[in-house]
Amino acid sequence: MHKTDKGAKLMEKVVSLCKRRGFIYQSSEIYGGLANSWDYGPLGVELKQNVKAAWWKAVVHGRDDMTGLDSGIIMHPDIWKASGHTENFYDILVDCKKCKGRFREDHLNGGKCPNCGASDFTKGRAFNLMFKTHFGAVEDDASVAYLRPETAQGIFVQFKNVLDATNLKLPFGIAQIGKAFRNEVTAGNFTFRMREFEQMEIEYFTRPEDAEPWHKRWIDDRLNWYYSLGMKRENLRLREHGRNELAHYAQGCSDIEYNFPFGWAELEGIANRTDFDLKQHSKFSGKDLQYQDKVTNEKFFPYVIEPSGGVDRAALAFLVDAYHEEEVEGRTRVVLRLSKPLAPIKVAVLPLLKSNHEIVTLSKKIKNDLQRYFTCMYNDTAAIGKLYRRQDEVGTFYCVTVDVQSLEDKQVTVRERDTMAQERVPLDNLKTYLIEKLST
Ligand code: ATP
Repeated sequence: MHKTDKGAKLMEKVVSLCKRRGFIYQSSEIYGGLANSWDYGPLGVELKQNVKAAWWKAVVHGRDDMTGLDSGIIMHPDIWKASGHTENFYDILVDCKKCKGRFREDHLNGGKCPNCGASDFTKGRAFNLMFKTHFGAVEDDASVAYLRPETAQGIFVQFKNVLDATNLKLPFGIAQIGKAFRNEVTAGNFTFRMREFEQMEIEYFTRPEDAEPWHKRWIDDRLNWYYSLGMKRENLRLREHGRNELAHYAQGCSDIEYNFPFGWAELEGIANRTDFDLKQHSKFSGKDLQYQDKVTNEKFFPYVIEPSGGVDRAALAFLVDAYHEEEVEGRTRVVLRLSKPLAPIKVAVLPLLKSNHEIVTLSKKIKNDLQRYFTCMYNDTAAIGKLYRRQDEVGTFYCVTVDVQSLEDKQVTVRERDTMAQERVPLDNLKTYLIEKLST
């Protein structure tokens, strides 16, 4: 469903580029595909890794009050009882009696079917979103386990171990990136809604009285992260949840929404989870998860601010945001204007004449030298104009072209993606030149 024809066309172009150039493929495509499931191709995996690396750098390595964790996908089933997911992690689904489409009750347009506009629905049915599995040799009730529907709980249950190992003092946070699974039954918009997806989550622990100011700071920090990676300001907005929308654990929540071609939708939620989770896990496990102040010996359950974003949604938003078309010499040039940290390939080395053995050898040597510093690719499969267009389309920042003259004057042509400006650069300076350009 798209807001406008223009939105639908843009989405079609992005989806087609993603498949054609190896960013995102339909999962199990040769078997007819699998609903709400997608795979990342050679360039998609680079983009996704860049998104995760930029996040980790900003929220862990770039701060003094954060540390990281990597917990399991399958954990003790009691965790989901304590967290409330076994009881509360439901979507209410209704079927439209006219077009037979199935929708989440909270996704209806003012009581109307988002597909056909009718307002006659079946009664709502609750549907738990957790994927169930079994561990051990016997498939009985005692062996039921779940694939985690969020990474957050792994952080709460390891709170004490991290605290003991690091001696961190409040306020501090633990970050985690990892797969989460939800049995989403309504149709998704490309990678916006998947059954298997990756989350980037922070649980930030504070004294209860400090929670609100930290909530505000995290909302600002997280918005600034998207801006710092080049996302257009007019395509991001904040939306505060109404009281009746809040999850069972939350005292307040603001979503960062992106203006997707199919409408404004959640990129990341930043919630005040209070002391709900640590208290629940203390109760269910019998282990005291309170924090003890080393100076005053005071013991209490910290409050938690949780910025929770999706890697796949962020990657999709960055792709859509970067997609750009312009007229150049009477032809349409497609440029993926991804920011430097996110571009899957930083430098492409292109020989002007692939029939010239010396040019090819020199080009390959340049690529080999540069790939120690940034992602590079060598390509000689077409004429130079076409090679430039292909690199523009996948967001490659610089193209280095080796020609006959390069063999004599030991200089190459460096072309910048957005301006298409070209500059001759001596081979001796090439590495330093590119390192400087790519780090600003
Ligand atoms: P929605 O209302 O869209 O289903 P949610 O509010 O249930 O999302 P959260 O539980 O807040 O989502 O999850 C945190 C983040 O994880 C979301 O902001 C989103 O980026 C990501 N996420 C959640 N569900 C999915 C999904 N099915 N596919 C891709 N990313 C998801």
